[in-house]
Amino acid sequence: MKIIKNYINGTFIDAENGGFIDNVEPATGQVYAKIPQSGSADVEKAVIAAKEAYTIWSNMPKEDRSSIMMKVARGIENRMEEFVHAESRDNGKPLKLAAHVDIPRAVSNFEFFATGILHFSSESHYMEGVGVNYTLRKPIGIVGCISPWNLPLYLFTWKIAPALAAGNCVIAKPSEITPMTAYLLSEVCKEAGMPDGVLNIVHGYGHEVGDAMVRHKDIKAISFTGGTQTGKTIASIAAPMFKKLSLELGGKNPNIIFADCDFDDMLSTTMRSSFANQGQICLCGSRIFIERPIYEKFRNAFVEKVKNAKVSYPEDPQAHLGAVVSEAHMNKVLSYVELAKEEGGTVLTGGERVILPAPYQNGFYLAPTVIEGLSFDCRVNQEEIFGPVVTIMPFDTEEEVIAMANSTEYGLSATVWTSNLKRAHRMADQLQSGIVWLNSWLVRDLRTPFGGMKASGVGREGGWEALRFFTEAKNVFIKQ
Ligand code: NAD
Repeated sequence: MKIIKNYINGTFIDAENGGFIDNVEPATGQVYAKIPQSGSADVEKAVIAAKEAYTIWSNMPKEDRSSIMMKVARGIENRMEEFVHAESRDNGKPLKLAAHVDIPRAVSNFEFFATGILHFSSESHYMEGVGVNYTLRKPIGIVGCISPWNLPLYLFTWKIAPALAAGNCVIAKPSEITPMTAYLLSEVCKEAGMPDGVLNIVHGYGHEVGDAMVRHKDIKAISFTGGTQTGKTIASIAAPMFKKLSLELGGKNPNIIFADCDFDDMLSTTMRSSFANQGQICLCGSRIFIERPIYEKFRNAFVEKVKNAKVSYPEDPQAHLGAVVSEAHMNKVLSYVELAKEEGGTVLTGGERVILPAPYQNGFYLAPTVIEGLSFDCRVNQEEIFGPVVTIMPFDTEEEVIAMANSTEYGLSATVWTSNLKRAHRMADQLQSGIVWLNSWLVRDLRTPFGGMKASGVGREGGWEALRFFTEAKNVFIKQ
């Protein structure tokens, strides 16, 4: 059995209290690794190490920081196969998804911010006849990064890379449900020659080690991605301590389909936006609104395609969907299918657990599910399910669909399908979402602001936004 270690001050160690948490493989339902059950004593050690390393890291020329980070990117690439298998095994996602999306993106995250920092210049504002303002952007110091289980290394590195590039030392915590690739990353950082204490990775439960990070007075900023309720808890502790906070939270994203869209392109993309990663991407479109003239056509074609989507073990190259991340999560998703029936919905396909042959008979597999007949304001259409479950609803007018799309407490992303350019812009303007995709889904440019409105979060990640978050601005004026 693999025993994962914390990475503190460049050493691989167990938790202070000697405790461990079981790590379950979703594809089989079996425990296959153990992770340290860290707490405040481990965070304290990491902070001491980070403080010492900060003088070295923050004063290092950014070209040198950049070159160490590029070595980390190469280090992940050199162990690509190992990372891909580890991610798929830890999370239950199809191997090909980890190979094409998760791990390559983790490499890009390091490359993007390692090179981005070289172009990050300070602004200056000239006041005619009076003087010049220039703005210094200094690292904050020690920062905390906390990430979820759905895109484990992808989202972990999306936070760590800009934090490090900007000159901060980092205490980072991956999800206790998917810790494996973060552990491999700590090995890569060691091999890449990153100075000890610059990046410290502590494993364990959110309410223990995560909470200790949020409460630590010397961790000056928290970048968090996860559930809205957790975000609320973190904000209630960190805000009175005047910590900088970046919160990327839940979503309930609308996918709006007009009759004049490119039907085939829309249909194949809607398959992905509904069920990629078993529907466990914060950007998945779980509420599908279809303009009434094509409602029947869409329903029939979509349900047919969903019925043919293969649910299989992650290494199966034919798998469209793998396992969902845990038994608890599987049961949560199934409870929403029951709720949908109580709320008057009809399950058109799916709605149940899939039992695969041995050795996968205890894995957490769910059939992709399509539900119709629900009102836009019922609980199933308002609460985040975060699994392979979508609802379909007809609409008649733009005004009506905008009102339904904007009716949830969330505002992360939205997708609109139409060939009417003016309408596309009108919709983009009126949707309450941090991200809008027109005739596409999940096309990512790492320079763009990434994040949500309303209960989907506070602040934006990506590009300069991330580098600004991980720095303190100091304006200096000099008289002419
Ligand atoms: P979660 O909130 O349960 O956990 C996220 C992380 O926070 C984990 O590392 C966890 O251990 C830690 N944590 C839990 N309680 C904590 C506490 N009290 N203090 C500090 N840390 C704590 O979320 P999850 O179930 O891992 O992830 C799924 C959620 O993440 C969904 O709601 C999804 O929409 C959201 N998500 C959002 C984005 C985005 O960019 N907006 C991206 C991916 C996932």
